[in-house]
Amino acid sequence: MRTKNEVNRRLFLKWANLVGLAAWFPAAAKSSPIPVPVQDANPVHPGEASQAKELRSPETILLKDYRPKSIYKIPVTQIDKAKYPIIDMHSHPYAKTPQQIEEWIRDMDEVGVQKTVILTMATGTEFDDIYRKYSKYPDRFEMWSGLDLSGYNQPGFGPAAVKELERCRQVGARGVGEIHDKGSGLVSGKSKAPGMHPDDTRMDALWERCAELGMPVSLHVADPIWMYQPMDKTNDGLMNAYHWRLDNKPNIVSLSGMIDIFDRTLARHRKTTFIACHFANLDYDLARLGEMFERNPNLYADISARYAETAPIPRFASKFYEKYAARLVYGTDMGFEKPMYRVTFRILESLDEHFYEIEQFDYHWSLNGFGLSGDTLKQVYHDNAAKLLAARAEHPE
Ligand SMILES: [Zn+2]
Repeated sequence: MRTKNEVNRRLFLKWANLVGLAAWFPAAAKSSPIPVPVQDANPVHPGEASQAKELRSPETILLKDYRPKSIYKIPVTQIDKAKYPIIDMHSHPYAKTPQQIEEWIRDMDEVGVQKTVILTMATGTEFDDIYRKYSKYPDRFEMWSGLDLSGYNQPGFGPAAVKELERCRQVGARGVGEIHDKGSGLVSGKSKAPGMHPDDTRMDALWERCAELGMPVSLHVADPIWMYQPMDKTNDGLMNAYHWRLDNKPNIVSLSGMIDIFDRTLARHRKTTFIACHFANLDYDLARLGEMFERNPNLYADISARYAETAPIPRFASKFYEKYAARLVYGTDMGFEKPMYRVTFRILESLDEHFYEIEQFDYHWSLNGFGLSGDTLKQVYHDNAAKLLAARAEHPE
């Protein structure tokens, strides 16, 4: 997931930009003998007025300050509402108060999101509290619980964790997620199991019970490839990679190793439906994800928080979407602001080229739309998720 801090940081960056443009320029123009032309001044943050001149030199512009603007006179598509009703399969309890939850629902209505799946990652009273807040709107939100992994290294681990899963199901959890393993072991919110990976036999009873209870599992394995690579001038995703770096953790399982673990988990628990969060972090190697789909009928993938990572390769990505349209589900994982949803629509629906969304995604690349077909959009936005959620009704309570 994008942590609360990360979302806050993004909001702050947006806010700082707005404040910078609104509040700083008039003051700078007054104090500077030479008025600063607005188009040159964009990269300058408040309080950095004295550096304005240096920042204009390509020798001194820092990557973090680089804010290119497209020069191309080409169509710009504004999509306020998604082409088909959406089921968002990857979100978190971002709204904390009843007012914020109502605001979220208004945003969902405006942009065309019918239902949002809240991956709480929580168990116990933490889950119950979140459930209580959102359950007032059962048609708009559904809550998935975490797993209680405590005692994972004690003999006899399993029955108590299964019991807590059953209790969460009783309260109203309809799936499990988001469970993480970034290479050092399973994590479910505050519950951690260092060294225990999803294919571990100690997890057998839990994954099997998920299937019996009709609870799909949203599983996040590894992280984007750039985070494992050297933090040097060749790193294609340096700005975000450094923030989430894993290259300084030599003892974790590699990205490729985590995919192998995931593959074994899928083969071992055929009745359990797994949703790989963020394309299983194979957005850089979608062909490998395609092979996983071919091998594992119990696998879906959500496309959340990997828009900027796939938009640089629109032709390859759109072919992948069309080929595996039945296996991909829409997700966001990036708060609930309307502009966030709309950027995802622009990438999926339009054929716009070379546009920047640095404030939204933090990457310095330009993005491109996929122009997905109506059939594919309908499946990814809605139909696959609807099928997956409806299938659970066949399972006993
Ligand atoms: Zn997430």
